[in-house]
Amino acid sequence: MALLIVTDDCSDCDACIEPCPNDAIAVSNELYVIDRLRCTECVGHFDDPQCLEVCPSECIIADPDFVETATELRVKYESLHG
Ligand code: SF4
Repeated sequence: MALLIVTDDCSDCDACIEPCPNDAIAVSNELYVIDRLRCTECVGHFDDPQCLEVCPSECIIADPDFVETATELRVKYESLHG
């Protein structure tokens, strides 16, 4: 599944944007958002989600409304980086 930023807990520190290998994180209307169509949970690049590794507010969670299997994440990675 894609990941989701809990904006109420986000401190706007900017730490998550650069580590994302899929350019999935952006600022929109002063809120940090993860593009669920680009987030692969870092499958194909890293063993663990990089945004989770760097977030000091621990405000990034799995999006319960956008569940994907490991195979689907791999297919998404290949479609982004084919
Ligand atoms: Fe980007 Fe990986 Fe975080 Fe998804 S899990 S938003 S791909 S850094």
